[in-house]
Amino acid sequence: MKGSFPIDKFRTVATPFYYYDTELLRQTLDAIKSETDKHSNYHVHYAVKANANPKVLRVISQAGFGADCVSGGEIKAALENGFPAHKIVYAGVGKSDWEINLGLDAGIAYFNVESIPELEVINELAKAKGKIAKVSFRINPNVGAHTHANITTGLAENKFGIDMADMEKVIEIAAGMNHVEFIGLHFHIGSQILEMGDFVALCNRVNELQDQLERHHIQVQNINVGGGLGIDYHHPNEVPIPSFDEYFRTYHKHLNLRPGQQLHFELGRAVVGQCGSLITKVLYVKQATYKQFAIVDSGMTDLIRPALYQAFHCIENLSNDEPKETYDVVGPICESSDVFVKAFDLNRCHRGDLLAIRSAGAYGEIMASGYNCRELPKGYTTEDFV
Ligand SMILES: *Cc1c(COP(=O)(O)O)cnc(C)c1O
Repeated sequence: MKGSFPIDKFRTVATPFYYYDTELLRQTLDAIKSETDKHSNYHVHYAVKANANPKVLRVISQAGFGADCVSGGEIKAALENGFPAHKIVYAGVGKSDWEINLGLDAGIAYFNVESIPELEVINELAKAKGKIAKVSFRINPNVGAHTHANITTGLAENKFGIDMADMEKVIEIAAGMNHVEFIGLHFHIGSQILEMGDFVALCNRVNELQDQLERHHIQVQNINVGGGLGIDYHHPNEVPIPSFDEYFRTYHKHLNLRPGQQLHFELGRAVVGQCGSLITKVLYVKQATYKQFAIVDSGMTDLIRPALYQAFHCIENLSNDEPKETYDVVGPICESSDVFVKAFDLNRCHRGDLLAIRSAGAYGEIMASGYNCRELPKGYTTEDFV
């Protein structure tokens, strides 16, 4: 797969930078569409927080996807990059007044509301504008996910969503308000989920809640099951596209939708994760007593996932095919956690070699910081190098 990187062209720009393989991104979007096209009521809103690079957003909006936003800034980014307002949904536990107003003015599809105080504010702000805000309630389903503890979101202990036990109460409160219209239920149990059983558990919970609502003659237009499908960080070349067939089949088989109900998904990582790589240069190879370090010019400021979540990313030496040796690949930042990988086998490294840190398309560039007064990494796509 070294061949799929335009290495000679990489030499013409400064490192470190993100590289997005737009051909793979388009193939991934096609794979999703070929599954969702089987069901006229399935709709995918791309989770903008995974990667808001304008070039990436444009490819996704042009493919016809909606956008799932978690801030006013993301709503702006989505609108600026081709997502129509009626395909934008907005979630978040702490929506500021200006963000709610932005959503109301733009005419987004609906707000995923996470508390009663927030519902009251949306009702007030919509009233001031003489509008009716469509709202969906994010319910905390108390379903665990087999993933890193920092990225589970659907447990009762997490800050997200409205307690299941309060579901009917909030629906009743909304019914008594003149400037909100209740249209759906929203769930999101976590990220980097590879066990379909976790999604089955969510389906079972949603079925229970729907039965409960039906007994009270409450109708729901939309069910939104969030995102969370993981990618194979260990095999970016062998598994470049997640198994969307299995994912959508799981929902089709286990979720009992009512006639006419729409099913919404909010995939982020699974859409953009594998198409991105962080391209970095080897500055020094340092021999220590028990190991050797490849010291590179990118660090946790460019890609924080290893430091923040103990995440693993495959690394490839794009510059040569010499026999493999074992390295700790580390960055230049003054933090001991600024390590990309320990004891990893790479084709022998030399000063100036280009390395690709793979599977970095999601929660990479977007989480970059300027710590140590570093410049933010740039993002390039395949089209930038033709
Ligand atoms: C982060 C997030 C997503 C996307 O999660 P992925 O694991 O990247 O698919 C979807 N919905 C909500 C509400 C989120 O916060």
